[in-house]
Amino acid sequence: MLYSEFVEVYEALAKTSKRLEKEKILAHFLKKLKDKDDPKWIYLLQGKVVPEYDPREFGISRQLAIKAIHAGLGVSEAEINKQFNKIGDIGEIAEMFVAKKKQSSLFSSKLQVAKVFDNLTKIMTIEGKGSVERKLAFVSELLGSASGLEAKYIVRTLLNDLRIGVAQGILRDSLSEAFFPGEKNEMAEKIEEVYDLVNDLAIIFEAASKGKKAIEKVEIVPGRPVKVMLPVKVSAIEEAFEICGKPAALEHKYDGFRMMINKNGKEISLFTRKLENVTKQFPDAVESVKSHIKGDSFILDCEAVGYDPKTNKYKPFEAISQRIKRKYDIDLLIKKLPVELNIFDILYYNGKSLIEMPFFERRKLLEKIVSTEKWKIRTSFQLITDSEEKAKEFYEHALEIGEEGIMIKKLDAPYKQGRRVGYIVKLKPLVADLDLVIVGAEYGSGKRGGWLTSYIVACRSNGDFVEVGKVSSGLKEKGDEGTSYDEMTKLLKPLILETKGNYVKVSPKIVVSVTYQNIQKSPSYSSGYAMRFPRITHYRPDRKTHDIATLNDIEKEARSMIR
Ligand code: ATP
Repeated sequence: MLYSEFVEVYEALAKTSKRLEKEKILAHFLKKLKDKDDPKWIYLLQGKVVPEYDPREFGISRQLAIKAIHAGLGVSEAEINKQFNKIGDIGEIAEMFVAKKKQSSLFSSKLQVAKVFDNLTKIMTIEGKGSVERKLAFVSELLGSASGLEAKYIVRTLLNDLRIGVAQGILRDSLSEAFFPGEKNEMAEKIEEVYDLVNDLAIIFEAASKGKKAIEKVEIVPGRPVKVMLPVKVSAIEEAFEICGKPAALEHKYDGFRMMINKNGKEISLFTRKLENVTKQFPDAVESVKSHIKGDSFILDCEAVGYDPKTNKYKPFEAISQRIKRKYDIDLLIKKLPVELNIFDILYYNGKSLIEMPFFERRKLLEKIVSTEKWKIRTSFQLITDSEEKAKEFYEHALEIGEEGIMIKKLDAPYKQGRRVGYIVKLKPLVADLDLVIVGAEYGSGKRGGWLTSYIVACRSNGDFVEVGKVSSGLKEKGDEGTSYDEMTKLLKPLILETKGNYVKVSPKIVVSVTYQNIQKSPSYSSGYAMRFPRITHYRPDRKTHDIATLNDIEKEARSMIR
């Protein structure tokens, strides 16, 4: 297909803000395609060349895009920068200059989608010495054969800023619209459910095009990340039993990070809850899995907890979060901060998906295949009981030995990937604590002058973010990533969207847990609520913005404060 035909779809999508219209445009386009098994269509519609769980990016900054336009079209960088200050979209600038240049030469683009996809893939994968120049050469080659409109979308794709208003949910629903128009809503739900197993819409597109049976057959595959099941929060043991039934399984709530362990033949891979592949960062965990778990293929759900080998004391989540990020000196860090794997669930074993199997049976299998070794690997500590008294003792003991709280699990429940259903509940002491995202920040004064020291935090509300307060305490002068003012400033600076005096607006990416004394109605923030005495307790690199508190949660908290 010519790329010019494909960008028409982008244009049509950009022209309407109505969700249903967007779904119709996408459905019409996808249905017509002949090669529905080719993943490039879905990837390009998302501005990518790889599945959603693959974090690789093109590595083209705005400055680099400007250089490429300069090299490809001979326009001076100063002129491009001038236009950028006016227009604010490098894509449009590329369009304008390409159109100008090619107007006179009766140019007609022959650029194929496959060629664009190919070059974009090369741009993404080039590494090492001279990679910037080689990336630029591939961009210039594309711009050289593109029309104005095509150049706009090539540049926007490279800058991760397609501006067509197609969130993943729209794309998913358009598959239902295209292939199951008679039962759109029901199938949209089914599609979402199987999507959470594979996290690759291209697979779902191909299956949907083959019909309902193919969708139902979409299976979990070891080696590919799955979205984890999440707990709901309760405030008392009685409530936990009400939700999970009696008897239920009680487990300690470990303060580490969620890890999905995958084995497929000889290949072992580890994923975080955000679907990041962290295998390289945790060779010690890979070794423990190799030597202590029986089976040719499996997917296990666990909490990896860091500890200090000198004192044999567990370390809180923040300590281990440096291991998630670290790409060098890993051996050194393993010695300083090894991890213990607390395995609590199994989703797949020796070629079979187990997500429909009741929890207590999955657990039985786990106990058979994991051989415990203290400080390396173990199945989570568990008690099955129907006694509220015994459960309370278990909870108190967990708190006494320094755990965060307990998890209560429904014995006959299946595994529900990607959902916060009542098959697991968590019980922790009641400290008001919310995950929020930073949407703005202010520079400090005096010796903190160069740092962003207070942060405007927001919760989710109908697909948008609304502010709930400003927090400036909780961080230190010096510390690990995200725990001090200078480290937080480093994280926020690349996200700045706009500066107004002392204040910066930032792209909502950085999630923090915030405690407070009270939440009250207040006209000062866009949510209509404000936190009193807020304090950042944790930086949460493991959370995405869709994990954060909603306006509903805030309203609930505010109501419970009154009681
Ligand atoms: P909170 O917001 O209360 O601090 P949390 O941020 O740790 O809780 P939640 O999203 O409520 O996270 O999910 C609970 C998390 O607890 C899981 O994602 C998992 O990482 C962790 N966890 C620790 N121990 C267990 C366990 N035994 N079973 C299941 N999850 C556990």
